[in-house]
Amino acid sequence: MAAELKVGIIGGGYAGMAAAAELAAAGIPVTVFESAKQLGGRARGVAYHDTQLDNGQHLLLGCYRETLRLIELVGGDIERDFLRLPLQLDLHQHLELRAPRLPAPLHLLFALLNAKGLSWRERIKAAHFMLALRAMDFCLPQDMTVAELLKQHGQDAGLTLKFWEPLTIAALNTPISKASAQVLLNVLRDALNRKRADSDMLLPRLDFTALFPQRAAAFIERHGGRVQLSCGVDTIIPDSDGIALQTAQGTQRFSHVICAASPAAAERLLRHLPELAETVRQIAALEQQPIYTVYLQYPAQVRLPHPMIGLHQRFSQWLFDKGSIAGQHGLLAAVISAEGIHQQLDQEALAEKVVVELREEFGITTAPLWRKVIAEKRATFCCAPNLKRPAQQTTLPRLLLAGDYTAGDYPATLEGAVLSGVHCARRCLPGRK
Ligand SMILES: Cc1cc2nc3c(=O)[nH]c(=O)nc-3n(C[C@H](O)[C@H](O)[C@H](O)COP(=O)(O)OP(=O)(O)OC[C@H]3O[C@@H](n4cnc5c(N)ncnc54)[C@H](O)[C@@H]3O)c2cc1C
Repeated sequence: MAAELKVGIIGGGYAGMAAAAELAAAGIPVTVFESAKQLGGRARGVAYHDTQLDNGQHLLLGCYRETLRLIELVGGDIERDFLRLPLQLDLHQHLELRAPRLPAPLHLLFALLNAKGLSWRERIKAAHFMLALRAMDFCLPQDMTVAELLKQHGQDAGLTLKFWEPLTIAALNTPISKASAQVLLNVLRDALNRKRADSDMLLPRLDFTALFPQRAAAFIERHGGRVQLSCGVDTIIPDSDGIALQTAQGTQRFSHVICAASPAAAERLLRHLPELAETVRQIAALEQQPIYTVYLQYPAQVRLPHPMIGLHQRFSQWLFDKGSIAGQHGLLAAVISAEGIHQQLDQEALAEKVVVELREEFGITTAPLWRKVIAEKRATFCCAPNLKRPAQQTTLPRLLLAGDYTAGDYPATLEGAVLSGVHCARRCLPGRK
């Protein structure tokens, strides 16, 4: 039975490569088609000035179990590949919150009650709120925005600005006035409420193409599959017992196809299929949110006080010291997530704002040797309340959808993408759903 299966996968991002690795491990022949010259999609390595960057600084959480499992499956080593930091939220000179090595959720309660930069009243309110969420098993009777939920639970403006807003933007890439409270609670439930290590923050020491997709490609080829770069799929042609994929290099037939392209590309590929009209409508309705990363290469001796540190009410939301994370000394990355006034600046002006902030906050007076701004204008979908996200199983039984935007508990994250890919792979396997 398994021998009759032959799966075509459109897209070599984290979702597509997760699906392909899972199928390859089960002995199913797969072919991955990737339109770009390299794998990784929205989490990919970018070479600039002889320096290996990413299209954006990413962070994983300890609770990203499937992503971490698959990185290991294809030959990675989590302890070697990542700098692992216990949960900490530092907004330079405004907030310092560190979780001690206590079992969850005590580690969080201790961290909240001992947070520097919050009044006693704010600390107790935050801890009380966390206990209330736990009592409702992180499940809301009805979804609402994060701003509405915070108001309901008496989280005042100071606490929101210093704690909940940076946390929500980092987790959902959506402003609190638009973000789904239920999806935030899903992340809090998985990261904060189970094992202490689930809330660890993992910062990769290698670029995002090398971390997983490239290793997955080697793994897939060792298991008899193929990964074709610069080979975009132009058309999906379903028939009664399979699906053909048309590319500029020719047409190939498969028993099943997993479309793991980004939402905009998936919409283009699916819109000529009348059976998928509702899916296409759901994809088209997703709003997008940007993420900007400003890389600044300073002389090697320049460093930040911590590998990752936030700024309060500045353009730079989070700063990363790539020297202490990945041995790239003097390289700093400033991340600016979600929509905001930064979008009104051109890239040079935005980089200059970050340079000034680094000077004012940390006394870094040396000029950077170079600067590079990477603007991902369609980084993730806007994670609004009650969003209808398309299911992985489409109305065509042999056509599945993978990607961070498809139905699931998570916002647009690597783990959401990987979970959707694994789910699609399992649906293709005989006897497994
Ligand atoms: C700047 C930035 C920072 C982020 N930070 C984090 C973070 O810290 N933590 C986190 O968990 N997540 C983060 N994310 C989100 C995360 O990167 C995404 O959720 C994830 O990479 C999405 O993976 P995907 O496989 O669903 O889609 P994509 O990565 O978009 O992959 C789709 C692939 O399909 C290919 N493709 C498109 N059309 C075709 C076609 N016709 N034929 C063949 N191939 C095609 C594309 O080239 C692409 O490689 C960030 C995203 C960005 C942009």
